[in-house]
Amino acid sequence: IETAAAALTLRADDVAGRFEVASTKPGRNEADIAQILADLKFGTVFTDHMVHMTWRLQDGWGECRLEDYGDLSLSPAASVLHYGQEIFEGLKAYRHADGSLWTFRPGFNAVRMNASARRMAMPQLEVEDFLGSIVDLVRADAAYVPELPGALYLRPFMFASEAFLGVRPSHRFEYLLIASPVGAYFANGFTPVSIWVSRTYHRAGPGGTGAAKTAGNYASSLLPQQEAAAKGFEQVCFLDARDEVNLEELGGMNVFVVYSDGRVATPRLTGSILEGGTRSAIIQLLADGGIAVEQTAIPLSELIADIESGAVSEVFACGTAAVVTPIGRLASDDFDVSVPFGEMTASIHERLTAIQAGDAEDTHGWMFRI
Ligand code: PMP
Repeated sequence: IETAAAALTLRADDVAGRFEVASTKPGRNEADIAQILADLKFGTVFTDHMVHMTWRLQDGWGECRLEDYGDLSLSPAASVLHYGQEIFEGLKAYRHADGSLWTFRPGFNAVRMNASARRMAMPQLEVEDFLGSIVDLVRADAAYVPELPGALYLRPFMFASEAFLGVRPSHRFEYLLIASPVGAYFANGFTPVSIWVSRTYHRAGPGGTGAAKTAGNYASSLLPQQEAAAKGFEQVCFLDARDEVNLEELGGMNVFVVYSDGRVATPRLTGSILEGGTRSAIIQLLADGGIAVEQTAIPLSELIADIESGAVSEVFACGTAAVVTPIGRLASDDFDVSVPFGEMTASIHERLTAIQAGDAEDTHGWMFRI
């Protein structure tokens, strides 16, 4: 995904205006939007519009429209409701100090969405349509992009809408993009999270769908998440189902380990891990500073021993929502260790958020101006 994404050079004006305005309602007024932006919660309020297009077996993608945000009308036989053919993405639009609007590596999300589509026997999206949907929606609903550290969370998704009860790929799909203004992920600054390592459940298996961003992976993570929460933990870390030895990832974030001798490691992409855009940006930022991140097998028992001996100095998780999150405690039935909070986690968070905010030079061309 990283390689294909790095080759993309499209700009917003190359892809703007692909979605025909089919909006009939006025949308919220300025005062209502100001009130929403003054009290942001994650994923509860949506903007005035959404992008919508439809794929039919005979015709491919068509009916590209920018609609009023609203409920969908769907057959109860729509195959997504029975067989779960659904994929999605998540990224953010930021407002820089000069008022300009930007996203971070939307090409990465476009390529990853197509990788997910392939695995789920769903149609490919033109990268131009994916990027164009972001440009058209963010331009239409620009008033909803909050000041930093807030952002407009963008949720592209595709699902099987054919009314047909049979286990085969649908003959009709809908692509939609909705948007929700969000505040800083951690209201009180950087807060280390506690992690329960699951020995009971796996989120993915060899040959399964773990590398795709598809609904079922998240559905299957909810019970482990619920059980961990009942024990007082915030997130779950899953192990590789092949051996139940090596660390994989959290339900919605990748993991990095920092060693006191300066090495940094992250689980290699086994085919059952989701390749994160934040993960790959961190690997590049560290490479810029001369640190070659080891993408390798990280056995849980070694990690715990290394935390206890002090050989591991930091463990952190990363993803679009929180960017970088220190892990402060790791536990399972047979261990419970606390992890120190260190410099590397804070510095990576600082460098990435500075690029996203337009406060640091974007040497890799990651920022996409809307
Ligand atoms: N792993 C999983 C399972 C995820 O859902 C996410 C969030 N998309 C990530 C990792 C992190 O990916 P990204 O950095 O692209 O947000």
